[in-house]
Amino acid sequence: MMEMNSVSPKGLWVEKLLDWYQTVRRPLPWRRNKDPYAILVSEIMLQQTRIEAVIGYFDRFMRAYPTASALAAAPEEDVLKLWEGLGYYSRARNLQKAAKQIVAMGGFPQETEEIRRLSGVGDYTAAAISSIAFGHRAAAVDGNVTRVVTRLYGMEDDIAQPSVRRTIAEMLEPVIPRKDAGQGRGPGDFTQAMMELGELLCIPKVPRCENCPLRGDCVAKQTGRVAELPFKSPKAAPVAVNRFVAIIRRESDGAVLLHRRPAKGLLAGSWEFPGIDVGSDGFQMDFATGFVSSFLETFRTGFSQEYGIEICPQNYLGQVKHVFTHREWIIHVFEAKLEDGRMEEKPAASGPDTGSGDWCWEDLRADSGHMMATAFQKIRRLLH
Ligand code: SF4
Repeated sequence: MMEMNSVSPKGLWVEKLLDWYQTVRRPLPWRRNKDPYAILVSEIMLQQTRIEAVIGYFDRFMRAYPTASALAAAPEEDVLKLWEGLGYYSRARNLQKAAKQIVAMGGFPQETEEIRRLSGVGDYTAAAISSIAFGHRAAAVDGNVTRVVTRLYGMEDDIAQPSVRRTIAEMLEPVIPRKDAGQGRGPGDFTQAMMELGELLCIPKVPRCENCPLRGDCVAKQTGRVAELPFKSPKAAPVAVNRFVAIIRRESDGAVLLHRRPAKGLLAGSWEFPGIDVGSDGFQMDFATGFVSSFLETFRTGFSQEYGIEICPQNYLGQVKHVFTHREWIIHVFEAKLEDGRMEEKPAASGPDTGSGDWCWEDLRADSGHMMATAFQKIRRLLH
């Protein structure tokens, strides 16, 4: 749901924007003509990369692969070599896939929806190519345009919500000029003018409103809310997940059983004290009421299902917390007894990743060199 100040920018803002763009327009190499392939290459390069860094790469790339057919026929290795230093190599691979799609289609697609189907092309890039190369009235909304529009219209929507870009595109579509609006005043000029305003004047922290052609129309400027807009909600807090962990000691020498995590996923390949996630509900270990006994049963069964090993959880040793980007582990540490004689026979670990496959016995007083993530280092400290 869009929330806007009751004031709206006056209708003439588009005319002022286009007039301004004619005077400041930078002679960027991809603006030399309206070749959709060149615009595609520039837009893919500009994703996550500054304009100044892209210019040299763009020229070299276009010299090597001046057409979609040339790029489609090139060895991938050569393409990646030319991309070296720009980073995010998946962009180069997608670009070459898109070139192959264009060749297979018999030419560059001309409708926004078809362009959108090219590999690596999202809503923004499709609309940019469609408006600049073909003069379609498609609204290209990226972070820059979002910032300009939320300020211009005084929009208080949370730009962290993906739906906001769609809302902004719908707001812009009626004001985009028609294809025959005249030299320097078509849909492609509008798209580039909005991008230019967002890059040169309506910048994130301290916009240069005093030089802005829209300052008389801009709701944020008129209502003193430039610093507040756009509004972006803070990142969601990580989800708290309870994890039960077993400290299993070998009777003969006190070594502790470690498990190596799978090669993919969270903390891939590192050694851990084995355990299971038991859900996100908050709870307290309550020994006085005996409430804990049901947790012990949950732990025993879950551990058996996870590892095929029978244990008997006994004493509760304490709790440690560890926060990842999207998850907070609340780790409940239990001492547990092994009820599976086979594990006792595993040899003690002798060095990094050379123990015995996914399990090893570790003397916690010695430094074996096994890679143990911080979350488990915290448990290790708890045990000393
Ligand atoms: S007046 Fe300031 S906040 Fe408003 S569009 Fe221009 S630069 Fe952005």
